[in-house]
Amino acid sequence: MDCNKFISEWKEAKPAVNTDRRDDLIMQSLEADRDYDHIPIMCMEEMCELSQAISKSIRKGPECMHMNLIEEMADVIIALSYLYYRFDVSPDEVGKAINVKLDRLERKLKENGRYE
Ligand SMILES: [Mg+2]
Repeated sequence: MDCNKFISEWKEAKPAVNTDRRDDLIMQSLEADRDYDHIPIMCMEEMCELSQAISKSIRKGPECMHMNLIEEMADVIIALSYLYYRFDVSPDEVGKAINVKLDRLERKLKENGRYE
C-alpha cells in the first residue's frame, strides 16, 4: 500500500458517498467477472487488512496508521456492498439485524453501564 498516494487522493475526495455510483460500479465489476467465488475471499482479505490496521493504529498511532485505518474501513464497507449482491442479502434484512443488535446494546448499557 502506498500511504502517501492514498492520502493525496483522500485530500481531494468528497466526503459524501454517491451510493448510485457505488452500486453501479459494483454491478459493472460483477458483470465483468463471473467468478463469484473470489468475491467472498476478497471480502475476507479486506476484513483481515482492517484487523491489522486496527492493531497497528492502537500500537503505533502516527498519521499514516490513522490513514491506513480509514483506507481499510473504506475497503471493508465496499466489500460489504459486494456481499449484498453476492449472497442476495437485502438492505432491509441487514437493517433489521442492526436494530436487533442496537436493542441488545441498549439493554447491556442499561444493565451493565458498558458494552461487553
Ligand atoms: Mg484493503
